[in-house]
Amino acid sequence: MPPLIIPFFIPHSGCPHTCLFCNQRLISGVKQPYPTAEQVLKTVLEWVGRSRRRLVEVAFYGGSFTLLPESLQKYLLDSVQPLIARKIVAGVRISTRPDALNDKILKFLAVNNVKTIEIGVQSLDDEVLSLSGRGHTAVDSLEAIKRVREAGFLVGAQLLPGLPGDTSAKSVSGIKGVIQAGAQIIRIYPAVVLEGTLLAEQFKNGNYKPLTLDEGVKTCAIMLHLSLRAGIPVIRIGLQADDGLSADGAIIAGCWHPAFGELVKAQLFHDLVIKLASGLDDKNAVKLFCNPDRISQVEGHKRSNLMKWKNYGLNIPNLFPDSSLDKNEIRIENLKQKVKSSVVTSYLYEEYNNA
Ligand code: SF4
Repeated sequence: MPPLIIPFFIPHSGCPHTCLFCNQRLISGVKQPYPTAEQVLKTVLEWVGRSRRRLVEVAFYGGSFTLLPESLQKYLLDSVQPLIARKIVAGVRISTRPDALNDKILKFLAVNNVKTIEIGVQSLDDEVLSLSGRGHTAVDSLEAIKRVREAGFLVGAQLLPGLPGDTSAKSVSGIKGVIQAGAQIIRIYPAVVLEGTLLAEQFKNGNYKPLTLDEGVKTCAIMLHLSLRAGIPVIRIGLQADDGLSADGAIIAGCWHPAFGELVKAQLFHDLVIKLASGLDDKNAVKLFCNPDRISQVEGHKRSNLMKWKNYGLNIPNLFPDSSLDKNEIRIENLKQKVKSSVVTSYLYEEYNNA
């Protein structure tokens, strides 16, 4: 079971950069710069009381944690230590930039019980990084992932497909690169245009064309598939529909949907069915079976996959639950043929698998 992550947002605190896409206050929905020790204690005890999960981590997200003054980092980390001593919390996770993780910083984090470091990689293409005003290179990210992992932390990578200059191929190559470098968890947040950002200005001037929802879903499905094949968990796909983002006018454009992650997972099942069906002699009277827990994902958002399959000439009016299938598997049958496969083990996107 994954850990219960109790997040505290420190939006934009400590960060001297102005990435094109970033409006941390909006993303986190938090206006207060950082939490007090009392708030940390109260919030953790409330969350723990509501959850049955035993492994708990406190996370400091938003901004660049390791660019905060060390005294403030220490203050925040100290607020968690009594909870760690009482074994209520197992450790701390933080998010930061790849160029803010030298050996001295890693030692400081280790002695303060930081266990997981999530790195804002965003892209492994230097042109995309430069156009997005990141101020670091792809090599900085790859070296940071290796260094953090070698220092004994669990290392995460955050990727942001759809930034200026990006392509689907570049995004896919980015996820391959972070996996190869040793990332153990991944987050994928397709670029959205938030009000108050430099990206919003570019968009309004006609100088930036964001990914459409359909393009974003397709690219993220390939990225998710490659992570699943590599056994690396993708712990989040798409920004959360919290108060900040749901405010009127907060999102101006871009690839966003409140159930974006579900759309991406549905796309995997869509593509797997098409792949399997291509081997069927007769596409009429096809029955589709999946694990009972996956029916809504396989059907797609508002049963959209059923409609898309129909347009492809595949008439699947209903799905059949089959508990003998694991959650990633499906089986399709017609009167003569029966084929089974999984969104993890099938070579779904061969052009990218072999690239
Ligand atoms: S480094 Fe992170 S917090 Fe700073 S501007 Fe860029 S995205 Fe925002």
